[in-house]
Amino acid sequence: MTALVLPPFVRLGGGALNDLPEALQQAGLKAPFIITDPFMASGGVLERVRGILEQAGYAMRAFTETVPDPTVACVNAALAMLRDGQHDCVIGLGGGSPIDTAKMVAVLARHDTTPSGLKVPHIQNTPGLPVIAIPTTAGTGSEATRVTVITDEVSDEKMLCMGPAYQPHIAIVDYELTLTMPRRLTADTGTDALTHALEAWVSKKASPFTDALALTAMQRIWRWLPVACEEPGNREARAAVMQGAFEAGMAFSNASVALVHGMSRPIGAHFHVPHGLSNAMLLPEITAWSLSGAPERYAMAARMMGIAEAGASDDAAGEALVEGLRRRNREIGVPTPKEHGLDVARWDNLLPLMAEQALASGSPANNPRVPTAQ
Ligand code: NAD
Repeated sequence: MTALVLPPFVRLGGGALNDLPEALQQAGLKAPFIITDPFMASGGVLERVRGILEQAGYAMRAFTETVPDPTVACVNAALAMLRDGQHDCVIGLGGGSPIDTAKMVAVLARHDTTPSGLKVPHIQNTPGLPVIAIPTTAGTGSEATRVTVITDEVSDEKMLCMGPAYQPHIAIVDYELTLTMPRRLTADTGTDALTHALEAWVSKKASPFTDALALTAMQRIWRWLPVACEEPGNREARAAVMQGAFEAGMAFSNASVALVHGMSRPIGAHFHVPHGLSNAMLLPEITAWSLSGAPERYAMAARMMGIAEAGASDDAAGEALVEGLRRRNREIGVPTPKEHGLDVARWDNLLPLMAEQALASGSPANNPRVPTAQ
């Protein structure tokens, strides 16, 4: 038996944002609270959403101070503002950070607890307020997942929180919102999505349903991400990467991520490396280390993405995959941790703690080759 959690209402494609009022009406929602970030607030996107809502008779209040890798303080500030008004749903507008904040705020609005009380191994089943996710990056897939990630800024821990309660009720997946992404953000967020697809494909929890999503997502993202990086206005590329990120989100939400994400979260929390970038730094080397755990799966991924010849042996295809991932990192300019300026002495000191935090999230246990802390 395969148990799945999927977004119930989806609007996918260019211009989907204009359908927001209709989606709210269909769901019987009347009083949205928006959670977004300063870029969306100053760059015109929030104003556009306000216009669309007001024209349809909706009033709108917005929290605009979400920080990247949202913290407990950020969640508490948004929650206090929500409680100051009368709202029946929460809209997350932006990248993964505003959407994850919206998910946590929506749950806390209905449950007397804290983000740290909700981290894995806790599983949150009982929903909070309905969430409408409107992604503006093509990466996290948060609009499609039963996951939120909140950083405890005191302990520098990126807390993984999971359960059906975090599944957005409505996902508005409009690639036109990603046309403004600069190259670095496009590359990092797109590699986050590629990592979701590859990790869902090789995960010990993969199912035939998630396999289909993971494979189509990795093909789309592998082909179109370099085009989106080089030609930011290329609509075909933006649409493909956005759809790939959404498919990869559904895949990993139901199959889990694995070792790359397990290790990436502590790096993000302690060194504030953007999430997609730390995934990109890890992906080729973790893939090389993991190959022996699922040689056929990695080989098939390489063949499906066109990185290896159809007739290549599993060993040759696996090696081609690792080389392809290394080459892609060079093409899209992914720095090594050292080139990125990470403090090497601090890194060495924190390694045992980061290993412990990676394992505690549960993600590495789903890797085809399961690591020890060592
Ligand atoms: P983000 O939301 O942190 O945004 C990064 C920056 O990009 C911000 O400054 C933002 O304003 C800017 N930005 C967003 N959209 C833009 C656009 N269209 N044009 C120009 N700039 C834009 O980045 P992210 O990578 O989308 O999200 C990362 C967060 O998501 C991390 O905290 C990560 O842990 C989390 N995450 C969550 C899930 C999940 O399933 N819930 C999955 C993966 C990652």
